[in-house]
Amino acid sequence: MLPLHLTGLTLAELSEFAATLGEPAYRAKQIFAGIHARRLRSPTEMTDLPKELRAKLIEQTTVESLRLESRYISSDGTRRYLFKTHDGLPVETVFIPEERRDTICFSSQSGCPLQCTFCLTAQLGLLRNLTAGEIVEQIIVALNDAYGEGVEPPHGTNLVGMGAGEPFLNFEALIKAIRIIKEPNGLHIVPNRITVSTAGVVPKIRELASIADRPHLAISLAAPNDELRNELMPINKKWPLRELLSACKDFEKSLARGERFTFEYVMLRDVNDSDEHARQLATLLKRHALKAKVNLIPHNPAEPLPYQPSAFDRVESFRAILESKRVHAFVRRPRGRDILAACGQLAARTDKPVNIQTVSHRLA
Ligand code: SF4
Repeated sequence: MLPLHLTGLTLAELSEFAATLGEPAYRAKQIFAGIHARRLRSPTEMTDLPKELRAKLIEQTTVESLRLESRYISSDGTRRYLFKTHDGLPVETVFIPEERRDTICFSSQSGCPLQCTFCLTAQLGLLRNLTAGEIVEQIIVALNDAYGEGVEPPHGTNLVGMGAGEPFLNFEALIKAIRIIKEPNGLHIVPNRITVSTAGVVPKIRELASIADRPHLAISLAAPNDELRNELMPINKKWPLRELLSACKDFEKSLARGERFTFEYVMLRDVNDSDEHARQLATLLKRHALKAKVNLIPHNPAEPLPYQPSAFDRVESFRAILESKRVHAFVRRPRGRDILAACGQLAARTDKPVNIQTVSHRLA
């Protein structure tokens, strides 16, 4: 069994734990800063703590629960990390270097229970929900690998909850992880820099709207009508488009000035990418008068998925139709396809060259 995983404790929980060891609250703050702000991976490295306290922490707790199995580096600089949990389940995280601000895409579950037909993760089924600590640890390891242990990211970091799993089916752990991540005394990545994506778990969209300090929301849509969406995303049979978009409309009331939420639309050749689909999508969004933007994501092919990405000019005409109907649409550039790190490709695959050396500097 895993000992107490300190990385998943809020500052208040860590203070309670420190009190059980007879330690004052300021020691909890030091430990919290050691784990999250300095991104140290063991109490041994927390040399600002008394020796006896370090010994107790080593004996009774752990900071590290994920074991890095493999690291893959794409020709575009994207990195995919494949971890194993203490009970041997796969967890994947992707680091995406960008000109202005780098992004880390984290997983919320090992595998996924939803059966989106264009997604490789679906083939794993649900292995289990990740704990808050396992979510936070993915960010810490990716930051250390990209910049060096404890080194401040040069331009800040964006986080997206778009890795393996449906975040809203692990809502409590997700929200707890975000609370830990935003601590000024820790990683200090504020919710305004975080976007979580759902396949459409309607009650949780409304619950998220009621959280004052919440992350941004993205919805994976993939189809402009129920018939096609039932086929591509079976969750639609439980919460069809009418219910999903009405929850989005309610969510809209919680948007800050200038904030828009995002629809992700994976583009599958000859399946959901015709001019007619684009017109249907524009009509659907107009009908609900939603202030949203649409990200068009060319499908990332991977064996044995039966789809191909839409051709470039098809994506362009789809985008042009949306824009002509005043729906803001953007084409997302696929990242890390060659290492199976792109959207919908995370399935703990190891069929690419393995490179697990640790780097303490950023690769170009
Ligand atoms: S697209 Fe997301 S929700 Fe759907 S199966 Fe894949 S990981 Fe799960």
